[in-house]
Amino acid sequence: MSSPVRVRMAPSPTGSPHVGLVRTALFNWAFARHAALGGQDATFVLRIEDTDKERSTEESYAAILDLFRWLGLDWDEGVEVGGPYGPYRQSERSDLYRDVLAKLAESSATYDCFCTTDEVDARRKASGSKVLGYDGFCRDLAPEQRAAFEAEGRRSIVRFRMPEGSISWDDLVRGEVSFETAHVPDFALCRANGDPLYTLTAPVDDATMAITHVLRGEDLLSSTPRQIALFEALKAVGVAETTPAYGHLPYVMGEGNKKLSKRDPQAHALAYREQGFLPEGLMNYLALLGWAIAADRDVFTLAEMVEAFDIKDVNPNPARFDLKKAEAINADHMRMLGLEELTRRVVPVLQGADVLGDPVADADAQLLEQAMPLVAERMNKLTEAPGMLGFLFVDEAAFELDETDAAKLLDESGTDVVRAAHAALADLGTWSTEAIQEALQTALVEGLGIKPRHAYGPVRVAISGRRVSPPLFESMELLGRERSLGRLASALDR
Ligand code: GLU
Repeated sequence: MSSPVRVRMAPSPTGSPHVGLVRTALFNWAFARHAALGGQDATFVLRIEDTDKERSTEESYAAILDLFRWLGLDWDEGVEVGGPYGPYRQSERSDLYRDVLAKLAESSATYDCFCTTDEVDARRKASGSKVLGYDGFCRDLAPEQRAAFEAEGRRSIVRFRMPEGSISWDDLVRGEVSFETAHVPDFALCRANGDPLYTLTAPVDDATMAITHVLRGEDLLSSTPRQIALFEALKAVGVAETTPAYGHLPYVMGEGNKKLSKRDPQAHALAYREQGFLPEGLMNYLALLGWAIAADRDVFTLAEMVEAFDIKDVNPNPARFDLKKAEAINADHMRMLGLEELTRRVVPVLQGADVLGDPVADADAQLLEQAMPLVAERMNKLTEAPGMLGFLFVDEAAFELDETDAAKLLDESGTDVVRAAHAALADLGTWSTEAIQEALQTALVEGLGIKPRHAYGPVRVAISGRRVSPPLFESMELLGRERSLGRLASALDR
C-alpha cells in the first residue's frame, strides 16, 4: 500500500466565505477522495486559522461549516468531528506554538527583534535600499545592545532567520518555482505580546498534523519559500518530519481582469444557495475554475470529478468567473436531478415562500406531484419554483395578477379574448387538458380568428397571473373548473 495522503483546508474565519475558498476546498477534497478511490489512505482535514483575534468571528466560522455541509464537502478530521491531531482551531493550540517557539529560539533559528517599524523605514531610506521588509538589524545583537533595549523597556517580537541562497520546490501545479532568499526578509512569527502569527501557525500545524500536500490559492505563493525554510528549522528541532508538497491553484478573476474580491457580490459563496443554486451545480461550476474533465465537456457530477481528478491537470493560468456559465451549468443539474429529487428540493423553497405549509397538506402534496412534470424542464434555479407554481396553490382570495403583465395583455382586446374563453369553457363536458385545448382552439383561433400566439396570452395571465407559466391547458386542468372559470371571470371584472 502506498503512503498516506493528508490534505487540509485551513480557512480564516473572517467575513463571508468566498467562492475562491470553496474552489480550493473542492480541489483538496477531490484530491483526497480520488486518492482513496485508488486504495490510498487519504484524509481531508478542516482546520480553522483563527489567530487573528480582531478579524475572526464565530459568525464567519459557522458560515464556513454551514457552507461546507451544504456543498457536501465532508471532512474526515477537524473541527467538530475531531481526530488524532486536534484541537483543530488554532486559537486552542497556543501551548503548542509557545513550545515550538521555545525550541526554535534554542536552536537559534529565530531571534528577538526590538526594532520599531519607523526605525526600519528610516534605515531603509538612509541606505536607499529597495528591499522591502525587515533589514536584519537585530539578527546578531550584541548582549550589551540587547540589555540596553530591554532597559529602555522595549518590547520584542520573534523573527525567523532566513537562510541564504535560494529556495525551490516542484509545485504540483506550476512546476519548478524558485525564490532568492535575499528577497525574502526575516519575518515575524509572533506579536510582541507573544500571540503567534499565521507565518508560524500554518507550517507548525501542517507539520504536526502530518499534512502531505498543501493545495492552496496562488495568493499564498509568496509565503511558500518562508514556510519551506521554516519547515527545515522545524525538522531540525524534531517538530516536523517531512516538508509537504505544495500546489498553488490559479487566481479567480472577476470583471475587467481583476481578481474576484470580497466586495464583489458574485464572490459570496452562500449567496448562491439563496439564489436557488443546487450544490451540484455550484460545485460543477467551481471545478471548472482551473480544471477540466475533458476539452469539450462542462457538465459532470462530483463523483465523475473525483474519479478523474489529477492535480497535475490543473491549469496555472488565471481562471475567469462567469456567472452566466454558472447558471447554465446549474440549469443542467436541475434536469439531471430527476423529478422526485427535484420535488424534494423544491418543497422547502415553496415553504419558505409560503406557497406550501409545513407540514405540506396532503392535497397540496398531490397537486405538487401532478404539477412538477409541467415545470421540471423549465426551471433553472430552485428559487423559480414559487413564481412558477404559486398560482396553483394560492387561495382565490389572495390570487393576484402581475401588474405589468396584466396591463400589457388584459387590454380591451385581451379582455375580449378572456370573455370568449370563459363562454367557451363554461359548459365544457369533461374538464380535461384535451377538452380545454379543443374548446379554446375553436372559440379563439377559429371563432375570433386570432393567431394562437396571441390567443392564449391573455388567458394565461388571467389563470396564472403571469405571462410566463407552465403549459396553459394542463395548468387549467390542475386548477380545476371552478377556480379556472372564477379567475377568468375576475379578469373580466378588472
Ligand atoms: N488561513 C489561510 C487563508 O485563509 C490559508 C492558509 C493556507 O492555506 O496555507 O488564507
